[in-house]
Amino acid sequence: MNKIWTIGELLQWTQRFFKKKGIDSPRLDSEILLAHVLKKERIYLYAHYDEPMTAGELNSYRNFVKKRAERVSVAHLLGTKNFMGMNFIVNTDVLIPRPETEILVETVLSYEKNTAANIKILDIGTGSGAIILSLLSYWTKASGTGVDVSPAALIIAKKNSEAFKLSERVEWLESDLFANVFHRSYTWIVSNPPYLTQADMQSLQPEVRRDPEQALFGGIDGLSYYRRLAADSWQYMMQDGYCAVEIGAGQCKAVSDIFEAAGHYMIDKVVKDYGDIERVIIFKRKE
Ligand code: GLN
Repeated sequence: MNKIWTIGELLQWTQRFFKKKGIDSPRLDSEILLAHVLKKERIYLYAHYDEPMTAGELNSYRNFVKKRAERVSVAHLLGTKNFMGMNFIVNTDVLIPRPETEILVETVLSYEKNTAANIKILDIGTGSGAIILSLLSYWTKASGTGVDVSPAALIIAKKNSEAFKLSERVEWLESDLFANVFHRSYTWIVSNPPYLTQADMQSLQPEVRRDPEQALFGGIDGLSYYRRLAADSWQYMMQDGYCAVEIGAGQCKAVSDIFEAAGHYMIDKVVKDYGDIERVIIFKRKE
């Protein structure tokens, strides 16, 4: 006889199963997937522990659980990822936005409290558009350009700008860094460039292997894109403009040195992430 599963029992079973499979957040993932299958908010699950699942729901949930156990991320399973309180469309053509990157966005926002300020933003390696679109949603008069070398990524970025009704304030540009960038008076250049080293690439978590390699790999020492950003960013920034970059663990000194050696920037701020790792550097244009 088929067992009748309640929401509570099913969550407990899945949590244990995910834990055995080496998944980082077994409870959270079980809940997000179940809420998705039931088309409810997560909070619903807590109030309906004893509710039985229908055969159809159980079947659909089982498929998600199986794929998650094969280490497909929840973001890839659902096709969305929450970033700065916004649900971004994602797929394997873009890097899944990470919580650390919210620190970059929050830091940049802290520089301008007037949400109606006239600000121009250039996002280098925009991927899903998470950084520039979340900035534009807070700074309601700002506009900007999201650049990516991958046309497939730009398709996703564009979908997101449409979903958030931000299309009128953002243009998407296929370009290898600054190659096709025309405007030269951005207030902010923002970037979460690929920064993993060759060694990092050998030891990726299975979930991360579904991110595009070109969004992760930053050359043998992980610093290639910082060299290129330092060489060119200043030419595209206003005199008192800023450049905000996310960095990998342990890269703060090397990246600061690269920008200082370029001769056009001062370090304005370094911000650590929740794990006490230096994660964001803000450079101010000199002269
Ligand atoms: N933070 C990402 C990771 O650890 C890397 C993103 C990047 O290279 N910019 O998987």
